[in-house]
Amino acid sequence: MKDPRKVLERLELGGNLAAVRVGSDAISGRGAPLAVRSPIDGSPLSRIDRAAPEQVDPVVTRAKEAFPKLRDIPAPRRGELVRRIGNRLRERKDDLALLVTWEAGKTTQESLGEVQEMIDMCDFAVGQSRELYGATMPSERALHRLTEQWHPLGPVGVITAFNFPVAVWAWNTALALVCGDPVVWKPSEKTPLTALACHALAMSVAREMPDIPDGTLSVVVGDASVGQRLAESESLPLISATGSVRMGRAVAQAVAARLGRSLLELGGNNAMIVAPSADLELAIRSIVFAAAGTAGQRCTTLRRLIVHHSIADALLERLAAVYAGLPIGSPLEPGTLVGPLIDSAAWVAMDRALSVARSEGGRVITGGERVTEDVPPGGVYVSPALVEISSSAAVVQEETFAPILYVHRYGDLAEAIAIQNGVPQGLSSAIFTNDVREAERFTSAAGSDCGIANVNTGTSGAEIGGAFGGEKQTGGGRESGSDAWKAYMRRATNTVNYSSSLPLAQGIRFDV
Ligand code: NAD
Repeated sequence: MKDPRKVLERLELGGNLAAVRVGSDAISGRGAPLAVRSPIDGSPLSRIDRAAPEQVDPVVTRAKEAFPKLRDIPAPRRGELVRRIGNRLRERKDDLALLVTWEAGKTTQESLGEVQEMIDMCDFAVGQSRELYGATMPSERALHRLTEQWHPLGPVGVITAFNFPVAVWAWNTALALVCGDPVVWKPSEKTPLTALACHALAMSVAREMPDIPDGTLSVVVGDASVGQRLAESESLPLISATGSVRMGRAVAQAVAARLGRSLLELGGNNAMIVAPSADLELAIRSIVFAAAGTAGQRCTTLRRLIVHHSIADALLERLAAVYAGLPIGSPLEPGTLVGPLIDSAAWVAMDRALSVARSEGGRVITGGERVTEDVPPGGVYVSPALVEISSSAAVVQEETFAPILYVHRYGDLAEAIAIQNGVPQGLSSAIFTNDVREAERFTSAAGSDCGIANVNTGTSGAEIGGAFGGEKQTGGGRESGSDAWKAYMRRATNTVNYSSSLPLAQGIRFDV
């Protein structure tokens, strides 16, 4: 399958595409043209006239109008919409995954996994649609009932990053829909086609359910100014934003200025500790998948390896050998494990980080080069880099969105945990150990300060059942499983007095 045109046609993405989709309506963008190119070989995939920021407002109005109608549909019926979206994704899994590969450059396996994650998320949300439970608390007053209810919140703005171009939409949308909230989606301008394909697939089932209001789902393809307009919109009580810390700061400030709610899923700087008792076979497989997989372009990518000094030389020698043999190339080829970077700017950032690392005393053990042989011309392919460097170097404090793994040595676990926690981001972390006391310390309150802390499995590749997200500059948001649904609802506390007197709380007397 070396020609993307067929999959574009099958997903109704041929020709010039309208940048704004509201339900069944397609509206041409009034912004600058966007040439969509594949990172595999730089070939043009499509052309879209971007939406201008002012085109956001009418879309938000449509979502606002849809809200009361969607709110009044029983949650299990909204779950039925999500069930059908999940089934449509099952039917179109191969095509959508192929488009993810063409547009985002992920290997076929990773793209299939990403679409599977969407399906899993739909299944999860369908169950959730019958479990939007509120609590009942004992009232301190006789013949009173004290309860909580969860109500739909309103239209949600969803801003997403290029590297999970479809799954993050599903994390948000599957839950928002069962919770009764319309969604206005601003995908990454680097991956607009997958977004338009998701919208078309979802609309193909929404049209089978005439009770679902038409403005329930929308997409606006545009750049940061479109995202900023969403963030500023008073009509969107929640903005869910996934991307860099820089973007999160801008969005959080705009949302806070109008006292809205934001759900932030920002950059990571994830570490793994490898302890002396670790099973090195498992650790090596896990390190390479997490550090080099997706060409280092996951928020959960392993960026820092903290190895006990007693095993460091042996581990590094073996890792360097595995790195040297990594199959780098077209993500469409079955054996490829490392596909392209998203664009040449990503290589510039990688190369710059490696120069800074060298200037800070780092030693590049292997990798960090542009690869031009046996890869499609026109794509940006690199060899994943392994760099030994002091944990106090400034460069390791930053997330460089490329496959660079910094290696540090440690003496005792307290030092390793201090290194692990000593960065501004707090997304994902892991320890490889067969010592139960070390594992428990790492996952305790005094251990990893991240939103994700794993034992004997890597930093990337989370399941949707758990709440996903991180602390500190990662933004504090939680999406997908567990009780993440609560972010998409508003809580009402109800006190019902069914007595014939009026006792006041705290025993206050106020006789009139
Ligand atoms: P990015 O921040 O450049 O862009 C993300 C999205 O935000 C895009 O849609 C972009 O148009 C929009 N945007 C950018 N600036 C904006 C602004 N000022 N106002 C409103 N919208 C704005 O990120 P990227 O390069 O697409 O993705 C990589 C980053 O995303 C990495 O930092 C990665 O760690 C992070 N990420 C985090 C998670 C997570 O769940 N924590 C998941 C995926 C990616």
